[in-house]
Amino acid sequence: MNQLESLISKHAEYSDLKSDLKRKAGVELSNHKYSDLFEDVFCGENKLSNDDIIYGTCGNHAYKAVQILNVQNDGGYGYDEVLNVYGCESCIKARALKIEMGFIGTKLGQIRGAITRVGRKLNDKDR
Ligand SMILES: [Zn+2]
Repeated sequence: MNQLESLISKHAEYSDLKSDLKRKAGVELSNHKYSDLFEDVFCGENKLSNDDIIYGTCGNHAYKAVQILNVQNDGGYGYDEVLNVYGCESCIKARALKIEMGFIGTKLGQIRGAITRVGRKLNDKDR
């Protein structure tokens, strides 16, 4: 395998890996169950609407919870920290898979950059 073939092969490999992670994250999200742990945060004036409870995922709720917690406690709460404490198991798994997808995405970008560099060399030779 020459350099270009090896880059293209790696790109396909990571691309398939990313699709697989995306599919797995989708499956996890479809298993989301409303986590009543969030009720520690969403009470009183911050109570969630029924629509939020029915249609929201723990990811959506964690996003809102971070804002509320940071107003109440002078900041410092991060999204992942809140999701991991209050979210359901499926949403926590989905988030981990999405983070992994992010790393794979970075790798894919690096490979595309390398392919572009090889392409430029080829173009220079033709001139
Ligand atoms: Zn959930």
